[in-house]
Amino acid sequence: MQTINDFTFDQALEYYGNSVSALVIADEKADTYRALVRRGVFQDVLSESGTYTEMVHRLWFHRYDDGRKITDTYNVFIPNMSKFNGKYSKRIKLLVDDIPHSVQMSILPVDDSGRYLFLLDELDASLHEEEAETENKVSSIQNNIYVFTMAFDLTSDTTSSVALTEISDEPLNYQLKYSEWRNTIVNMIPEDEQKLFLKRSDPDYLRSHFKPGDVDSFDIQMVNLDGIYQWVKLIFSRMDTTNENDYRFVYMVQNIHEATISMKATLKHYEELASTDTLTAVFNHGRIETELRNAIEQHKKDNLPAGLMILDIDHFKTVNDRYGHAVGDKTLSHLAEVVKNALAGKNAAVGRWGGEEFAVVIYSEDKDSLMNTAEMLRSSIEAASFDVVGSITCSIGAAELCTDDLPEPWFARADKALYTAKSTGRNKVCYE
Ligand code: GH3
Ligand code: MG
Ligand code: MG
Repeated sequence: MQTINDFTFDQALEYYGNSVSALVIADEKADTYRALVRRGVFQDVLSESGTYTEMVHRLWFHRYDDGRKITDTYNVFIPNMSKFNGKYSKRIKLLVDDIPHSVQMSILPVDDSGRYLFLLDELDASLHEEEAETENKVSSIQNNIYVFTMAFDLTSDTTSSVALTEISDEPLNYQLKYSEWRNTIVNMIPEDEQKLFLKRSDPDYLRSHFKPGDVDSFDIQMVNLDGIYQWVKLIFSRMDTTNENDYRFVYMVQNIHEATISMKATLKHYEELASTDTLTAVFNHGRIETELRNAIEQHKKDNLPAGLMILDIDHFKTVNDRYGHAVGDKTLSHLAEVVKNALAGKNAAVGRWGGEEFAVVIYSEDKDSLMNTAEMLRSSIEAASFDVVGSITCSIGAAELCTDDLPEPWFARADKALYTAKSTGRNKVCYE
C-alpha cells in the first residue's frame, strides 16, 4: 500500500493532468499558446495551439460563440489584461453552442519571462445552474449599472484596481498610466462629445474642482463591447483624505442608456407641452415670442427675410353670443387647423397669441410673397366651412422684419396693420 511519502511528482502530475479540463502553456511575449490537455468543452473552445491574444479573447470576452469579436477600441485593453505578476484565478462562463459552461481558471506565472500555465476546470452543470441564478442577479447589478470601475492617482499618473465589470467581475492587477488611459477612452466617445470628456477628465481640472471626498459626474455616450454607442454616466470621486496633496480618485462608469433614452423622450414631450396652446394645439404665446426672437437672430446671420402676420376673427363676440362659448372654442380650434393646413409646406410657425387672435411667423418670405401668403390665408379661412357657425372671416395685419428690428416694434407694426384692416372694412389684409 502506497503512503503519501511514496508519491512522486510525476504521479501527481499524471493525476492532475487527468482531472483538469484543460492545461495550457502560454507565452505572452511570443504571443503563442499550446494546449497540453484539452477535454470536453475545451476541444471546441481551444485549438491545440494558437496566439495568446486569441486565447485571451476567447476566455475573457466569452460573450458569444459565433466568432463575433469585440469592438476594436476595447482590444487596447487586452495587452494589459493578459499580464500576470502572481497567481490569478477567476471563474468564467464560456458559451459553446449557446450553452453556458462555468469554468474555474487558475493562472500561474512560470517565471518572470511572461510565460503562464493555465489550469481550466469545468464545473459540473448542477453547480453551474445554481450559480447562474445568483450570477444573473450580480451581473444585472454590475453589468447594467456599474460597467467599469477604476482607481487612479494623479500624483503618480497611475491607474490601478481596474475592474472591467462588463467583462470580468474582479479587479485586474494591471497598471496603465492615467494619461494613457484618458487617450484611449476618448476614442470610445463620439467626436462631438470628446471635448467634454477631455475637459472633465483633465488632471488640472480634477485637481482644482474636487475637494477630498467630492463626487461629480456627467453623461456622455460611449461605445460598448459590441461597438454600439450607449449613454453612460461618468462618475469621478476624489478619495477622502486629510492630505491635500493626495490626488487619488475613483472613477466609475454607470450604464444609464435605457433611462436616458426614456428621459429624453419625456423631456421632448414636456418641451412640446410647454410650447403648445391647450385649446388649439398650435404654438402658445410664449413660443411665438421665441419664434420672433429666433427669426431676428436668423436674419442677422443669413439676411433672409421674415414676416409676421397677426390674425383676428371678425365679430367673434357675435359667435359666442349666438352659439355659446363652447361652440366659440370649437371654432377656434377648427380655425387653427385651417390656418395650419393653408400654410402647410411653408416654413411657418403658427400660434395662438391669445383669445381669438393668432400670430404666424413666416420664414424666408419677402414683402410680396408675405402679402400673397396673407391673402391666400385670408381667402382659405373665408372659404372654410365651420360646424354650427358656417363661415367666418378674419382680418390680418402683416409686417416684414426690418434690419436691426426688435420683437416689440415688429409686432407693433403688424398690430397697427391689423387695426387698419379692422377699421377699413374687415376680412382683408393690411401691411405696415
Ligand atoms: P372684431 O375683432 O371684428 O372687432 O370683433 P370681435 O367681436 O371679434 O371683437 P374682439 O376681437 O375685441 O373680441 C374678442 C372676443 O372673442 C371676446 C370674447 O368673447 C371672444 N373670445 C376671446 N377668447 C375666447 C376664447 O378662448 N373662447 C371663446 N369662445 N371666445 C373667446
Ligand atoms: Mg380680438
Ligand atoms: Mg375679433
